[in-house]
Amino acid sequence: MPLYKFQCHSCGLRFKNFCSKEQRNLQKCKKCKEPVKLLMSSNSFGFDPKTEGPSPQNTGVSSLDHDFNEIIAKDSFERWKVINKRNLDKHKLLNQESGASGQNIQLTVDGEYVLMSDEKKEGFEKVKDNFIQPFFDAHYEEMEKKKTKED
Ligand SMILES: [Zn+2]
Repeated sequence: MPLYKFQCHSCGLRFKNFCSKEQRNLQKCKKCKEPVKLLMSSNSFGFDPKTEGPSPQNTGVSSLDHDFNEIIAKDSFERWKVINKRNLDKHKLLNQESGASGQNIQLTVDGEYVLMSDEKKEGFEKVKDNFIQPFFDAHYEEMEKKKTKED
């Protein structure tokens, strides 16, 4: 008996079942007993990612989509945790010292935030105005030049 792959019209569950050609059109969903559609005979394709379990319908590549979505969601979740922790750290710092603003916050090489004294902040701004900003301006100008060339 060949192995066939089905997907439920109602809940989207995908499953495999051994059955005869005659029986394959009479299959019902394992979970909700609703009618299913025949996807393909399982051994007609060598490429066969995870097939059991619920998956979104009508995308054509739904099981792959589902896996990618899961990976993207997990990755985003981890990144948001980092962003939230950074914001929390900065707020904690600012709450420690009244009068301090975001301009007083410095990121150390260890990835920690510290408050700069006003003196240090002034020095930092000088470096920013005289070195960092011109660097970005030059870089930006270059990019604009490239863009107009391409146009
Ligand atoms: Zn179902």
